[in-house]
Amino acid sequence: MERNKSFQNRPILYLVSTPIGNLGEVSKRTIEVLNSVDFVAAEDTRNSLNLLNNLGVKKKMISLHEHNEREASANVIKLILEGSSIAYMSDAGYPGISDPGALLVQEAIKNNVPVSVINGSSAFLTALIPSGLPTDHFYFHGFLPSKDSDAKKELTDLVSKKETLIFYESPHRIIRTLTMLFEVLGNRKACVARELTKLNEEYIRGSLIELKDVEEATLKGEMVIIVEGNNITQEVDDNKLLNRYKELLEKGLTKPQAREIVCEEFDAKPNYVKSLTMKL
Ligand code: SAM
Repeated sequence: MERNKSFQNRPILYLVSTPIGNLGEVSKRTIEVLNSVDFVAAEDTRNSLNLLNNLGVKKKMISLHEHNEREASANVIKLILEGSSIAYMSDAGYPGISDPGALLVQEAIKNNVPVSVINGSSAFLTALIPSGLPTDHFYFHGFLPSKDSDAKKELTDLVSKKETLIFYESPHRIIRTLTMLFEVLGNRKACVARELTKLNEEYIRGSLIELKDVEEATLKGEMVIIVEGNNITQEVDDNKLLNRYKELLEKGLTKPQAREIVCEEFDAKPNYVKSLTMKL
């Protein structure tokens, strides 16, 4: 166990959330902190330099991105241990959320360096709250793998989750991902939240079957996909279903044949049976 007070007059690592589109979202506290530190470490120093110039902040910069994360994190912590305070920012939103930053935090904790977050916007919360889908329990998945077979496998593991599901996606894969969500999760309510906090901000609410057919050319910019959790009351006894499935395999049936039979016998959804039996 370790307890670590953030503000004890000693050098500190700040993780600074930066705007996901609208520069007006930079807080007074963000500017104060950026002015107070000795260095600003950034995922993309050019991009962050623009932001600092906009805010009238002049600082020495350090580059820390996914390809040098380990060495650069060690270097940042070394500088803090030598007496400098440092703010780290990724390109947009919170560091560590589908962005570099987690290794830096681990290195800080290992070295007893205090870490504090300076709040700002996060794309997934900005998308979730007005999506119209339940916000009491949610599951953030971030990006699905780019390879279709890997993405399908990850999605299959999510089929039975009851929480609202949140995905990040880039415009060139949005239709592929919406189609895959429909194929694997079935038709559910969903929302595509686009260009958040920017002039073209848009929430497209509907069902996956409708969303996958939206004209791709109209889905430009940055996007978050929010999908309703599994709200089908599954009255199937999982153990009984699995035992029957194993019995069928032992009799020499192929996996698809055995799945088809248990679906019928237990009146269960194919995707549910697939996710349950895949781990065997
Ligand atoms: N660190 C960021 C955060 O805290 O949200 C996420 C960075 S991740 C590399 C970028 C992804 O976030 C985009 O592909 C998109 O899915 C989502 N995103 C970022 N800005 C957005 C915006 N203005 N509108 C919608 N989605 C956005």
